[in-house]
Amino acid sequence: MKRVYNFSAGPAVLPEEVLKEAADEMLDYQGSGMSVMEMSHRGQIFDRIIKEAERDLRDLMNIPDNYKVLFLQGGASLQFAMIPMNLMKNKVADYIVTGQWAKKAWQEAKKYGTANKIASSEDQTFSYIPDCSDLPISEDADYVYICQNNTIYGTKYRELPNTKGKTLVADVSSCFLSEPVDVSKYGVIYGGVQKNIGPAGVVIVIIREDLITEDVLPGTPTMLTYKTHADADSLYNTPNSYGIYICGKVFRWLKKMGGLEEMKKRNEKKAAILYDYLDQSRLFHGTVEKKDRSIMNVTFVTGNPDLDAKFVKEAKAAGLENLKGHRTVGGMRASIYNAMPVEGVEALVAFMKKFEEENL
Ligand SMILES: *Cc1c(COP(=O)(O)O)cnc(C)c1O
Repeated sequence: MKRVYNFSAGPAVLPEEVLKEAADEMLDYQGSGMSVMEMSHRGQIFDRIIKEAERDLRDLMNIPDNYKVLFLQGGASLQFAMIPMNLMKNKVADYIVTGQWAKKAWQEAKKYGTANKIASSEDQTFSYIPDCSDLPISEDADYVYICQNNTIYGTKYRELPNTKGKTLVADVSSCFLSEPVDVSKYGVIYGGVQKNIGPAGVVIVIIREDLITEDVLPGTPTMLTYKTHADADSLYNTPNSYGIYICGKVFRWLKKMGGLEEMKKRNEKKAAILYDYLDQSRLFHGTVEKKDRSIMNVTFVTGNPDLDAKFVKEAKAAGLENLKGHRTVGGMRASIYNAMPVEGVEALVAFMKKFEEENL
């Protein structure tokens, strides 16, 4: 068996330990004689799995008691609609557009009410985070929306925007559990788990209880109403039970690793190895403003698309996979999520140095 260093943006690398444990339990989960995939989501065993997963996530993120944790489906993209359907009481929301995901969320929200784009970095191909200290927040805005880490462009918010008292909603798909967060600053934090947590097919929504109401936009389907899932502890219908089981294992792994403070340290160290090299390389350079650099998705180019393609191809042959940038931006992107070991980043930098010598 040969494992590669997988720099994919998502679905992405998972901790090897978690995969091995899941493999060991595949045919017979803890003496049940069944795989977790085969058992009832209403049985005692799965009940314990989902409750433990929630408890461990609450521990890791220090989630206050007045927040619900929901394990849903439909990916992060379905939240682009669920958020306005459930939260737009005044039919007004403010969006900060810092990349394609935030833009898609903004465009979706326009179907349900007035979605104001109050700031954007599209003028510079989303290579920075705008100053959000004094934005024209709408007086009747139901919420202010951000995408906290921009997976495609490789930027992140260092500081949360000043929402002037309005509810903050954040898509954290690609930075979920990468560092500690103060949950109480948000109304909703959500993300697809396939970037930094688990297998595709689960989206976790952490939502303040007062935002969960029956007062949703007319026509909102039962399945797209947060209250439906909150009242049923995420078991209104069949959840992605196997996905939740793997997420639970990752939460336990993170606790064992020392929690989110420790992950932040490790992630900053990994990112620094790569950025420090980029800053002195004569061939490669980073594509975003230094102050806004993501510690999860590192984007870079040589400036020559043919050379970029050659790099991606040769890196793959050397066991460094999925380094091609997003299809809409080109260049390279190394996603260095929690489960990417420091050795993977060191191997990448060593390969880049060699490539630089050979191609300069
Ligand atoms: C990947 C991604 C999405 C889309 O996720 P799906 O689960 O495929 O819908 C949305 N937002 C961010 C920040 C992402 O990285």
